Amino acid sequence: MPEINEKSFNSSLTKVFAMNGMSSLLSMERCDAFYRLTVRMLEENEKYNLTAIVDPDKIILNHYADCATLAARLKKGASVIDVGCGAGFPTLPLSIVRPDLKILAVDSTAKRINYVDETAKLLGLENVCAVTMRAEDGGKNPEYREKFDYATARAVAEMRVLSELALPFVKVGGEFVAMKGKNAEFELASAKKAIATLGGRDTKCEEITLKDGIGEPLTHPLIVVKKKEKTPTSYPRPFAQISKKPL
Ligand code: SAM
Repeated sequence: MPEINEKSFNSSLTKVFAMNGMSSLLSMERCDAFYRLTVRMLEENEKYNLTAIVDPDKIILNHYADCATLAARLKKGASVIDVGCGAGFPTLPLSIVRPDLKILAVDSTAKRINYVDETAKLLGLENVCAVTMRAEDGGKNPEYREKFDYATARAVAEMRVLSELALPFVKVGGEFVAMKGKNAEFELASAKKAIATLGGRDTKCEEITLKDGIGEPLTHPLIVVKKKEKTPTSYPRPFAQISKKPL
């Protein structure tokens, strides 16, 4: 595990957030939480295979600043479901910078959910709850269906599949926010019908750009879908159908 110097970690974190207009999201306590999250994630990485990015400066840009960009989009006190949270992204950074949110982190892998749950407890993040669940099962469960102001997802599936996994969780009037890779425009074009069928409208795609003053800026698209109508009860379908015959 790479040695992490707390002082230089805090200085990089503060610098990157400042360069990207997010200084107001940090405090001494939050810097400390990010430092402890980094130490824990790297310590547990071998056991849980959590991240391919192990350089603290890259973790700050690619994981923390990237996930923190969502903070400005979410209403105060909102409920959020993070679909396919993996090692806790965007759940954990978002819960540090937005303690007012109520976040349910969901993943089909129990090992990762155990890690997210234990990490949230260790860091005192009382606004996070982590549940092992397949999204397509959760979306049928009345406890979770159309109960959230927002669904988020980063790097989980292509947009037609992801929309069927995530949109059933969102209340009418809420939003689905997908942090996507390079092919987003193309994915979105082929997902228009799926999004409309699931009750989504007014879809927008925008480019997120983050600098760290060292390497190339990090850029990737973000897709925001408004939930305008209830999702028909026939969705989500079983995963084999979702992936073999995407809407
Ligand atoms: N969001 C995290 C991130 O940005 O680092 C993790 C991304 S990882 C590439 C995708 C995650 O989605 C995996 O942890 C996987 O288990 C989860 N996943 C994929 N399909 C799922 C489903 N149908 N229900 C719940 N989780 C799912």
